Amino acid sequence: MMGNEIIIGKDLLRDQRTLAEANRSRLDQYKVKMIDIMGSVGTGKTSLIQRLVSRLKKDYRIVVINGDLATTIDQERVRACGVDAFQINTGRGCHLDADMLRGVLEQINLEQTDLILVENVGNLICPVDFPLGAHRRLLVISVTEGPYVAKKHPAIFMEMEFVAINKIDLATVMDVDVNGLQQDILAIRANTRVFPVSCREQRGLNELATALLEES
Ligand code: MG
Ligand code: ZN
Repeated sequence: MMGNEIIIGKDLLRDQRTLAEANRSRLDQYKVKMIDIMGSVGTGKTSLIQRLVSRLKKDYRIVVINGDLATTIDQERVRACGVDAFQINTGRGCHLDADMLRGVLEQINLEQTDLILVENVGNLICPVDFPLGAHRRLLVISVTEGPYVAKKHPAIFMEMEFVAINKIDLATVMDVDVNGLQQDILAIRANTRVFPVSCREQRGLNELATALLEES
């Protein structure tokens, strides 16, 4: 269980999309569902994963993959929830890619797994351009990023089927209108499913967990 830390030092010049498709076929072969969770540093990706794990672990055998520049803090936080977690340290790399994922998938017993939650590197810009082979992509934003986060980053919102607006318990303090933020997201992509949540106050999380696991 311990020691499965992977250091990625160099870019492999291979077609990311082909690698992502290969990851997807491997997951499908074992009937494993994978969700790629993206968002800036500090929006609550790890906290949200902890909340999802606690809601889903009785029904699904879950493995978490944590991407991070340097630390294993997130991996330890997830393991404390009672599921296995693999760490990918990217060094200076600002996103995960399909080849990194392929390496970790080889270490996971997919026959004993139903669901893989991937925490991408904290970054709102480039992870969207690097498909991993996930079945679903969830973007976690937070009211602490201010009211213009969607308007300023249309590229990533254009691709997201699911967006969680986290820390809604702080909306008043941050002077952010959650409904306005939701309208901005829907103006970029009309059929995005937006879930206002608070990991701290445990609001909106059951709805999000259910939606993420619905059959598409
Ligand atoms: Mg994290
Ligand atoms: Zn990047």
